[in-house]
Amino acid sequence: MKNIAVLGSTGSIGTQTLEVVREHPDDYNIVALSCANSIDLLENQIREFKPILVSVKDEAKANDLKARIKDIDCKVSYGMEGLIELATIKESDVLVTAIVGMIGLRPTVSAIKAGKDIALANKETLVTAGHLIIPMAEEYNVSILPVDSEHSAIFQSLNGEKRENIERILLTASGGPFRGYTKEMLSKVTKAQALKHPNWAMGNKITIDSSTLVNKGLEVMEAKWLFGVSYDKVKVVVHPQSIIHSMVEYRDGAIIAELGSPDMKLPIQYALTYPDRADLDTKRLDFATLKDLTFEDPDMDTFEGLKLAYEVGNIGGSMPTVYNAANEYAVAKFLNDEIRFLDIYEYIKAAIKEHVLIDNPSVDEVIETERWVYETLNKLKL
Ligand code: MN
Repeated sequence: MKNIAVLGSTGSIGTQTLEVVREHPDDYNIVALSCANSIDLLENQIREFKPILVSVKDEAKANDLKARIKDIDCKVSYGMEGLIELATIKESDVLVTAIVGMIGLRPTVSAIKAGKDIALANKETLVTAGHLIIPMAEEYNVSILPVDSEHSAIFQSLNGEKRENIERILLTASGGPFRGYTKEMLSKVTKAQALKHPNWAMGNKITIDSSTLVNKGLEVMEAKWLFGVSYDKVKVVVHPQSIIHSMVEYRDGAIIAELGSPDMKLPIQYALTYPDRADLDTKRLDFATLKDLTFEDPDMDTFEGLKLAYEVGNIGGSMPTVYNAANEYAVAKFLNDEIRFLDIYEYIKAAIKEHVLIDNPSVDEVIETERWVYETLNKLKL
């Protein structure tokens, strides 16, 4: 029996994690859950999965929830303190970091120091602090198991292989809803169009990030840290059907890939079953009907989000945090109908231009950099 704590249980990855647990009640047990505001859904999750601890955004939400679950023996905490309590709870074996944003960083660090394995879905953790997290995981002898579909595919393609034999990581990208668009066309796209991802069902923020290719940029940085390779060894391959979830090319030219239907439950479950596998009721690939698997290079001049990611990645230090935080800031404005699609890139570029690099930033400096980006962009008139 594996005991699981879920950071962010009401979002897309969180709810699908609970679906996996629901399918395997003899193998998995939920000990702690958290959410920011979705108290109704959290209450249902508490009644079904019976965690011993939950955490919510603030004291008001905590009091609201406590009143609703008076009949249940479950501790309710809140705020960053609550997230850290959840991350380090002694009853858990693994922490699923399904929360979106840099808010996931401190709890993840605490969980590693408490010896918990990490099923990593929070991209920001490695993007902003990979230089701290990877050595820390080694020091505390914990596993970082990727939940992102591409990184899970790479992880699976590395089974039994030596890392030094990797020639290239081939990170696949669907290209998003605007693949093939020109700058001119992108200048007119709407929020509703950007929110329609062709293959994957995901949360709003990551769906916008997929349409700008910022998501792929974050994934390039994630891959660099997870698999210990330099940026010139991570190549993005646009593959619109999302059937190949990513590949590894070895020094002898052999390429190993993981294929399957695009269903996030597969990488979520693999992070929990690794190195074993379990049944999963997901759509099977039918090669008789699978006619076209196509590939192309990403258009990095139009979709600057990807080009900028390689740039900030190669600079390193606090620059990936600037990229990530500026994007987060701009996407929130875009989702709020305050800015246009291409402005997202302008905000990222403006923040990069203003930033004075911090080499090898600490967790505190990473978080301070995020705050600096928000403050700077708030003052900036584009
Ligand atoms: Mn992905």
